[in-house]
Amino acid sequence: MPVAQPPAHRPVIAPLAPQRYKVQFTANAETHEKLLRAQELLRSQIPDGDVGEIVDRALTALLNNLTKRKFAATERPRESGPDRSRGKRGTVPRSRHIPAEVKRTVWARDGGQCAFVAHDGWRCTERAFLEFHHVVPHCAGGEATVENMELRCRAHNGFEAEMFFGRRNYRPRGTDGDVSVMTSSNRSGPS
Ligand SMILES: [Zn+2]
Repeated sequence: MPVAQPPAHRPVIAPLAPQRYKVQFTANAETHEKLLRAQELLRSQIPDGDVGEIVDRALTALLNNLTKRKFAATERPRESGPDRSRGKRGTVPRSRHIPAEVKRTVWARDGGQCAFVAHDGWRCTERAFLEFHHVVPHCAGGEATVENMELRCRAHNGFEAEMFFGRRNYRPRGTDGDVSVMTSSNRSGPS
């Protein structure tokens, strides 16, 4: 009796054992061709052409690429010159600009994850839609230094701005209204 197959277009990611996953998806001819090409080019390093190993390398390259673009995490950081009216710590005083080297260091230190820690020690696990958060807000004199910057997801960045400025006065950039979705505690209330 044949085992029921999942719909072909739906990817399957199923844990088989601790640290082992079965990943199944449908590839088009182009993707298949790329895979064969990668197998050929990696033949000396991956003799058996293991697809899992090749996909792992492809994803590593993709993530490096995305990280570089998003957080300016270049392999060879440019030195901040002493000129151009920069402060001692590589920042432009009173500027909202966050130097690329600060972004890169903060992102690496926080592990590409929201660094919000609740009172009970729980740390947010969000890795998408991250923003650079001023611990001491810019308008309160906080500078764009490694010490004063942390990664935050959108919810926690807005949440902490609200905590600092008070809900009534806080208006996120680019919006006219108040912040309606911040935390689970105020999500239920009217906005
Ligand atoms: Zn968060």
